[in-house]
Amino acid sequence: MKKTVSLVLCFLLILTSFAAVVFADSPEKQTASENKGKVVVLATGGTIAGVGEEGKTAGYKPGSLTAEELLAAVPELADVAEIEAIQVCNVNSDDITAEVWLTLANTINKMAKDPDVKGFVITHGTDTMEETAFFLNLTVKTDKPVVLTGSMRPSTSISADGPMNLYEAVCLAASKEAVGKGVLTVFSDRIYAARSVTKTSTYNVMAISAGETGAIGIIRDGAVYLYESPMKKHTAESEFDVSGLTTLPKVSVLYFCVDADPELLRFAAEHADGLVIAGAGAGEFSEKWINIINKLSIPVVISSRIDDGVITKDNLLCGNTVAADNLSPQKAAILLRLALTGDTDQERLEELFSTY
Ligand code: ASP
Repeated sequence: MKKTVSLVLCFLLILTSFAAVVFADSPEKQTASENKGKVVVLATGGTIAGVGEEGKTAGYKPGSLTAEELLAAVPELADVAEIEAIQVCNVNSDDITAEVWLTLANTINKMAKDPDVKGFVITHGTDTMEETAFFLNLTVKTDKPVVLTGSMRPSTSISADGPMNLYEAVCLAASKEAVGKGVLTVFSDRIYAARSVTKTSTYNVMAISAGETGAIGIIRDGAVYLYESPMKKHTAESEFDVSGLTTLPKVSVLYFCVDADPELLRFAAEHADGLVIAGAGAGEFSEKWINIINKLSIPVVISSRIDDGVITKDNLLCGNTVAADNLSPQKAAILLRLALTGDTDQERLEELFSTY
């Protein structure tokens, strides 16, 4: 009798342990918040939040859907992370301002201290996404992933690309692979570093690219494959501190072409703290422009209207200017604006443009 009772007890013990193991591994038991951490989605507008005539790809209003509506279109996100949505603004990205950049940087810097937060996604219009990415690359003080994405087709078009881009951005922001890689952009399955990412088409779903440098990785079904790492200083290693700023110095970008009006250059110089020239070829411009630039006392950085290549000190036509390395004019303007928040002379600017 005693033996039978012990056998039954033994059997029950084995059964309950087995059940405990089975239920502990049951996927229903794992909630995103318990196991996967939080990704903060900061929505700023753009075509990804665009609404227009059902089925059409053009003639829509960007920045129409809210952050919550964007997220509702991708229920699969619940399997990736707990999502916190913040509506920073809801604009066409051509209306992004320095104030929006500062809000984004300061919000990320504050929230990154929360151990539950794994990473950040910024939904953004594609026109100026590369500028916001580079600004944040120089001003966020965290190794946690910060990923920008957007779309080329509005939410109401046939085969809108926004939901997949958003899904991939959240997967990347929640991944360990993206930690310490600087600010990233994900678009149409490709991952780009903030310093080199740029928009290269006015209409195509592969509108985001990175010129000579190329993509640094790809993403498939939420799995991240990274092959390269950005070499220039960024994020946690960057020296730029924007915590006390409410605006940025004014820098104008001037595009040179045949017969470009020298008066525009003179006007811009009188109304800005610094200038970036998008020169022809290796950063060149006419004698008329050379004569004006030689006499300027504000900082002037020389970039090129050509997508590929580099501007070095040897290319410079005026001794009082600084070479932008391979930064596009719009990115050189961001670095110059940040540089002008501190003390700078020509030597210091040269150092910054070779470091970042
Ligand atoms: N004009 C839009 C924007 O930058 C274009 C886009 O998002 O694709 O907000």
